[in-house]
Amino acid sequence: MILHLDLDSFFASAHRSRDKRLLHRPIAVGGRSNLRIFDRAKRGIRLYNHNSGAFVNPVFYHQHQEDFERFFVDHINGKRKIRGIITTASYEARAYGIKTGMSVAEALRLCPDLIVLVPDYLLYHELSHAIYQFLELEIPAVEQYSIDEFFGDVKGWISDRELLAFAYRLQREIRERFELPISIGIAEGKWIAKLATEYAKPNGICLIPQGEIGRFIHEIPIEEFPGISKGYKKRLERYKIETLGEALKRKDLFYGWGKPGKMLYHRIKGDDGEGISVKNSRKSIGLSRTFDPIRSREEIRRRIVILARHIVYMVQKIGANPTTYYVGIRYDFGQRVKGRKTVDRLFSEALCKAIFVEIFEEIDLGVGSVTKLSVRVSNFSDQKCKTLSLLEWNRDISAQQLSRSVQRMREKYTLDVIKGANEL
Ligand SMILES: [Mg+2]
Repeated sequence: MILHLDLDSFFASAHRSRDKRLLHRPIAVGGRSNLRIFDRAKRGIRLYNHNSGAFVNPVFYHQHQEDFERFFVDHINGKRKIRGIITTASYEARAYGIKTGMSVAEALRLCPDLIVLVPDYLLYHELSHAIYQFLELEIPAVEQYSIDEFFGDVKGWISDRELLAFAYRLQREIRERFELPISIGIAEGKWIAKLATEYAKPNGICLIPQGEIGRFIHEIPIEEFPGISKGYKKRLERYKIETLGEALKRKDLFYGWGKPGKMLYHRIKGDDGEGISVKNSRKSIGLSRTFDPIRSREEIRRRIVILARHIVYMVQKIGANPTTYYVGIRYDFGQRVKGRKTVDRLFSEALCKAIFVEIFEEIDLGVGSVTKLSVRVSNFSDQKCKTLSLLEWNRDISAQQLSRSVQRMREKYTLDVIKGANEL
């Protein structure tokens, strides 16, 4: 059987785990896109990167003095304007109709008592990583599916008879250790397990025995199934198929749609046999920014170095040693280029900055203006297991030591406390 574990309103719960005053109240976490990281003035950096994708980009905040006014409110021509959107709402807030994607201003109209929190992505990443590590000790194969979702394969590990008790224990331990509510779906097929979690929420457990899948999905609208895109929904509706039960009766139709159709059919049936992909676990850290066109290569390099500094902070925070580096550029005339390099060396700030700039120099078309930069590191190697280049070892060790002491300073003060000369 496969377990799907999903933290309940994770971002909101994460704040509650740190501040008990937030319990049982309508709270929400908001987000804003911003470009302040590139400002030359010292601000006690608050970098955030709103990304609504499954993987939220790593972002780091020192939100000590940050508050709602400073984060969400702009003053334009003397007028106070609330900006930003809701990324997560607690169940108490959802009762007022507050949803992900709604503007902060509208959420506050619906519930004037709503507490809108400034996001703390570093906290989310730390908690997510800690829970992943905890699950790895409990379950032989764990897949981190997103920042707040995990799959665990317990075949041959926990007998079906003991499964429910096992899930309740996991749920209880996650609550006790991390003070976070989590819901768990259990089924033979991983996508049915994910669907079951939706019915377990909040803070529940939902087990679907193999023989019960048909009955469980029968009345469920097709769009609730993970992986039914708008395209498939439209196609199915053309055949008057609105529920998963109806879909299951049309094997012919799905099979007529080739490999993806077949795959989807068996996912719905719960016999896809896909198993979990440990490899697809989140193993990269990336950051990107879109801005008004910039022609100066010097300024672009400066921005790459700034992005690198933020990546370095996050990588060192989780103690990873990435060995693959990516840079992506988008130009004002629509062209995109990207490049990557793998270097089996000890990670450090100096190395990371140098490689990003190196890749940039190699791939930059040299013409036009740049409107978007993305940087990413992946391929996290365990320093002890992997053979890192011995040639550069001594140099890398001292670069890493320096990098780590800078990290300690930054953790104590802010990410802005130490900048490279090439950023100024
Ligand atoms: Mg969740």
